[in-house]
Amino acid sequence: MSTGEFDLIDHAFRKKATFIHRATQLANGDDASVHAIPAGFELVLSTDMSVAGIHWPLDFPLKDAACRAVNAALSDLAAMGAEACWVWCCAALADVAAGEEMGDGVARALKNRAIELAGGDTVHAPINSLSVTVSGIVPEGSAMRRDAACAGDGVWLCGNAGLAAFALQRWQQGSRSGQETSAFQQVRPLLNEGIVLRKAGVRCCIDVSDGLLADAGHLADASGVGIEIETGSVPGFDALCRFLPRDEAAQLALTGGEDYALLFTAAMNLGDELTPLATCIGRCTAGAGVRATLEGRPIELKQQGYDHFA
Ligand code: ADP
Ligand code: MG
Repeated sequence: MSTGEFDLIDHAFRKKATFIHRATQLANGDDASVHAIPAGFELVLSTDMSVAGIHWPLDFPLKDAACRAVNAALSDLAAMGAEACWVWCCAALADVAAGEEMGDGVARALKNRAIELAGGDTVHAPINSLSVTVSGIVPEGSAMRRDAACAGDGVWLCGNAGLAAFALQRWQQGSRSGQETSAFQQVRPLLNEGIVLRKAGVRCCIDVSDGLLADAGHLADASGVGIEIETGSVPGFDALCRFLPRDEAAQLALTGGEDYALLFTAAMNLGDELTPLATCIGRCTAGAGVRATLEGRPIELKQQGYDHFA
């Protein structure tokens, strides 16, 4: 066990994640790190905060929570089609043991990924939290974005929706079986898939974190289009129907959140390269807002997605 702040930083975080990216000029350990951006590329940056009791249950293993927090942050780079290069982790720790566990989780998320832990901050606080900044690179002008959808485009999902929220419900009901709760415990950021989409010419993408309808709404608003989603087509919905009544399954698939799937728009006919990656779940229209149907009939929802201040 380490003693003091600097030992803790070294032992719990820095020594567990030692990969250094080829574009790094000055790595973790100085007042700041220094990175070159390769010619013809742009820097992509995003930051995400995860707090115990809000983003993960208080009795959830901290190692899994930290791994999840890093993976969730990386999902934003996936949505941009970026190559992930660096992360910075700001840990608020209730005690030293929390630092060791969080460091294990951060290292697990970065392992075998060629992503560098470029820095961070570590403080003692009453509540555990992990704030993760991620950065990557993308060829100039090619980042996927929320405002590029056009009426007539298909709406596609890479990944599934609802299973993570269902797994979290199971955890909250007391299930500790890996099988039942793994969709919440193990977030896989779709980094390779995002790069494949971007290279295939996809221009408009968002990652689903707040809930499918809420995030489709962000994309629709930014692009000035309407979106129609057929719930029966959403990957994950059929699996949920094996455990839940259809209306509850629909509610979870559309609003559960925490999916970290990629929602993108593209032609109704995807090329051969993208077809195995994604499922068509709807289309963009000339209107505004998001409408969901189930077997063609409009469905009413109790809520649209997660809102911290609602
Ligand atoms: P400063 O006082 O300059 O803010 P710190 O003493 O907080 O630096 O941190 C020392 C070094 O360790 C810095 O290079 C910082 O980026 C890194 N660091 C601190 N906390 C973490 C962490 N949780 N994960 C990774 N690196 C960290
Ligand atoms: Mg500091």
